[in-house]
Amino acid sequence: MAFLFAGEDVCQQVHPSPISDPYWVGFSRSAADLIGAQQNTEWLKLLAGNALSAAPHAFSNPLASVYSGHQFGVWAGQLGDGRAILLGDRNGYEIQLKGAGKTRYSRMGDGRAVLRSSIREFLCSEAMHALGIPTTRAVAVVGSKQPVMRETLETAAVCTRIAPSFLRVGHFEHFAALRNPERLNEFSDYLLQQHYPECLNDANPKLALFRAISERTARLVALWQAVGFCHGVLNSDNTSLLGLTMDYGPFGFLDGFQVDHICNHTDSGGRYAYGRQPQVMHWNMSCLAGGMLPLLEQIMGADEAQYQLQQALEEFPLAYARSWQSLFRSKLGLSQDHEGDIDLIEELIKLMHENQVDFTNCFRALSHFDTNQAQILLRDDFLDRAQFDRWLDTYRDRLIFEKSDNAQRQVLMQRVNPKFILRNHLAQVAIEKAQVDDFSEVERLLHILQRPFDEQDEFRSYAAPPPSDLQHIEVSCSS
Ligand code: AMP
Ligand code: MG
Repeated sequence: MAFLFAGEDVCQQVHPSPISDPYWVGFSRSAADLIGAQQNTEWLKLLAGNALSAAPHAFSNPLASVYSGHQFGVWAGQLGDGRAILLGDRNGYEIQLKGAGKTRYSRMGDGRAVLRSSIREFLCSEAMHALGIPTTRAVAVVGSKQPVMRETLETAAVCTRIAPSFLRVGHFEHFAALRNPERLNEFSDYLLQQHYPECLNDANPKLALFRAISERTARLVALWQAVGFCHGVLNSDNTSLLGLTMDYGPFGFLDGFQVDHICNHTDSGGRYAYGRQPQVMHWNMSCLAGGMLPLLEQIMGADEAQYQLQQALEEFPLAYARSWQSLFRSKLGLSQDHEGDIDLIEELIKLMHENQVDFTNCFRALSHFDTNQAQILLRDDFLDRAQFDRWLDTYRDRLIFEKSDNAQRQVLMQRVNPKFILRNHLAQVAIEKAQVDDFSEVERLLHILQRPFDEQDEFRSYAAPPPSDLQHIEVSCSS
């Protein structure tokens, strides 16, 4: 926060614009506890952006931050918090109201967010956290009957997000593009002190900072791939400097596995398809390198700075592969490193792709597999059963070779292979009910998704793939 107060060129001090007659749509107790928020009238007003000065929760310096970025691979110039207003911080968390009205950075936008996208961001933030994936959290969604125009007339909502920081790769890009070495230095010093103090012990803290961000990002993408999460808009301005999943828009979890699955209807070229996320985040790290280059040039000269950053950038695919391999190993319950394991994993993924088998349910079913079983029900999901049989035989042999206890392995596998994810069709039901003022499904989904690894037998239907008429819900950037 301290840095963001530094001046007119880095932020705008701006108050949220009130919304009419706000009401609770969703509330996450576990996120709320982090900042001491309550589901009462005072907090409702506060999180609607209607009463910032209300004691005892006064926030006196709300602001919007400027950043720039590359969108769909193209330099977009200055962007910024066009509809998110940072209230202040509590207990090490910044509190941001998304959809709280216009700021200096709103460009053509109205500063608002619609109910549909706010519910999706709320549920997915909390679901990702429960899956053990670094993410910004969501405390609440507050709704209103205030009209908002998108493709059709919708209503406004405000989603309260919290995170240790909402800083993005686009912040570095912004100050680098302005050729403002002073701000770049202040910015990186702030980031180092507040969020990466361990890098300060390095001989070259700024290079260490780049490495640390890149490593966290590589780990983050591997985690996404391991639960079949597609972000949908991996622009550099949506890429966190803390390795958090952020700016939920047209995201989606894989149902039937397709490596080239595109979840964002607007992304016709598939730049952000599931299988491309690792390369795209590597590319975003090259944007970060570009943003940090002027800093390192000051320290070691242009040639050496370029060389060092290039070297550090080349570590990304290696860090990603290490994380990916280790995650998929645990997904298959392989605790020892053994030759042929990667082939085994890749062969399964290939079969899942060819047969469009449900990603989540496939790994969950394998988490119940006992090596004494001749066959498993999952087999029926593969059109080419003979191929699956061959794979399962190899898998069984591999597990027997490891001599692990079946029951113990199953427990471990069920802790990394979720039963419940936020499938689009589930979110859609919750949204449609909320649009007619029934918020029970938002609450129920939140409850289920906060325990994604538990059996929760009473909610078994929430683990099913979408019915055929709801398989291809289109989600666009419109939000
Ligand atoms: P996104 O792709 O949703 O992360 O948004 C890209 C940029 O557009 C960010 O700078 C947002 O703040 C801004 N933006 C998106 N929607 C709106 C809106 N309705 N009003 C103002 N700014 C917006
Ligand atoms: Mg964004």
